[in-house]
Amino acid sequence: MSEGILYIVATPIGHLNDLSPRASEVLADVDLIAAEDTRVTRKLLQHLGLNTAMLSLHEHNEQQRIETLLLKLQAGESVALVSDAGTPLISDPGYPLVKAVRLADIKVVPIPGPCALISALSVSGLPTDKFIFEGFLPGKSSGRRGKFEELKQEPRTLIFYESPHRILACLDDLETVMGAEREVVVARELTKAFETIHSGSVAETKNWVEQDQNQQRGEIVLLVAGAQVVKKQHQDQERILGLLMEELPLKQAAGLTAKICDAKRNELYQKALEIKASKEK
Ligand code: SAM
Repeated sequence: MSEGILYIVATPIGHLNDLSPRASEVLADVDLIAAEDTRVTRKLLQHLGLNTAMLSLHEHNEQQRIETLLLKLQAGESVALVSDAGTPLISDPGYPLVKAVRLADIKVVPIPGPCALISALSVSGLPTDKFIFEGFLPGKSSGRRGKFEELKQEPRTLIFYESPHRILACLDDLETVMGAEREVVVARELTKAFETIHSGSVAETKNWVEQDQNQQRGEIVLLVAGAQVVKKQHQDQERILGLLMEELPLKQAAGLTAKICDAKRNELYQKALEIKASKEK
């Protein structure tokens, strides 16, 4: 008998129409759905008119469930893993299961769909070419500040999941560690009736959240612009170049700055010419 397949099925993060046709087909066809909370998934199945068998799989019983599910998959049954909302395993249960199933050489198939962090990033207006996702921030202020210290110089866009009850305290910690001017985006209730996407400096956003109690409700993704490391590097290079140009011929000043900063000699020479020209004006 051939082995079954484990499908990792993304479900809506709010708007039910975001469930893909392929996801509903899989939920209809599998022998069993492993659901983070069967009550939540039952509502989705009712909406789809389905009655597929379910089994709970959450952070407190995942280890026990792995054995049961492996046996079922080995017996040829197909299983769909879903969480309450969005993509399973992303700040949700499923990682130990997927690891174990792949180790057993059983096929794992993704059924892609909604994911709060990607949805938030796609509308944030922050750089999307490189980003890091840190999941949920620590619940205590000291933990959050420590995490922000760790990430203060990170140039990539930072993405966090945050509880609405802590968003104000979180922005306060962010301001303390990264400064009032750092740009942030609060993406709240995505795909739902009260969807809100707010961009601003940390200080302005904190004030906005404080003034409007509604902004402290619902589900939130917090995005923080990466540190402007490149700009700072250029500023440092120009300062060194300027100082050396006062003592040395241009080529030598550019060559020495390139060595000190591990930068390109030609680009620094061009910069030196620009600085010289602007001084002669
Ligand atoms: N697996 C999910 C995913 O793919 O995004 C995330 C699950 S995690 C337990 C739940 C967190 O995701 C929420 O606390 C919130 O930070 C974020 N989230 C989920 N749905 C959201 C939505 N509609 N709008 C904004 N954030 C959302």
